Amino acid sequence: MSGRTAIVTGGASGIGGAISRRLATDGNLVAILDINRAAAESAADEIVQAGGKAIGLGVDVTDRAQIESGIEAVRAELGRPTILVNCAGATLACGFLDITRDAWQAALAVNLTSAFDCCQVVIPDMVAEGWGRIVNISSSSVHSGSAGLGAYVTSKSGVVGLTKVLALEFGKHGITVNSIPPGFIDTPMLRKTVDAGMVDVDTQIGRTPVGRIGQPEDVAATTAFLVGDEAGYITGQLIGVNGGRNT
Ligand code: NAP
Repeated sequence: MSGRTAIVTGGASGIGGAISRRLATDGNLVAILDINRAAAESAADEIVQAGGKAIGLGVDVTDRAQIESGIEAVRAELGRPTILVNCAGATLACGFLDITRDAWQAALAVNLTSAFDCCQVVIPDMVAEGWGRIVNISSSSVHSGSAGLGAYVTSKSGVVGLTKVLALEFGKHGITVNSIPPGFIDTPMLRKTVDAGMVDVDTQIGRTPVGRIGQPEDVAATTAFLVGDEAGYITGQLIGVNGGRNT
């Protein structure tokens, strides 16, 4: 039971939801920041009903002012945050020549600039504590590329670069920064691509060495390890959770 204050962006659904529940089960005080305030509050209520401590806040992570006020509320209600999981994200499927500049900027905003902003707002708390853990959720597409997802893959690749730079700059403050690039995890985001006919689950299971679809809890377990004290010598790394699809 670490009792630390953890922020999980995109924590109302899918992978972020599982990470929020797991970090709370491990004894952390969890702040769920999600664009959907009702869903964030409901996810936090579920944790509280299960005996954990959590709050849910409506925060659009593409808006720096909302991030700053949301994290100020976290400090006031749960104390200084020392764990940050940047999980909010969105897929924007589009052939390269059809990507508009607005769509490109939107992808960078939700998948990359959001992590930049959240890290810049929270790291001073971690420096003050002399301890911190950041986990940036990227994507297995940073290993493989993915046709038709140019803006998404580029933004997620930027998250990997950010992870490496922050690891180098803040290691001396007791802060580790790692990235999990998940692949083929059963969440509402993945199901939307299945429903749109972009992904066939059985075909993808056939391409997955462990022979199953990943669960959000698979990513949550890895996150729980990376934010613990025992992972203090692991920083600047990509820890794939993809059933062996990318090595
Ligand atoms: P998900 O179920 O759609 O969860 C994403 C959450 O982020 C949702 O609650 C979503 O809210 C929220 N969100 C979106 N835009 C936001 C914003 N501007 N501000 C705050 N919250 C926002 O998807 P998931 O599959 O769990 O994905 C979680 C992360 O894993 C994403 O970064 C994704 O790119 C990454 N990932 C997932 C997979 C996979 O196989 N599932 C693979 C590679 C990478 P709304 O639902 O209301 O939009």
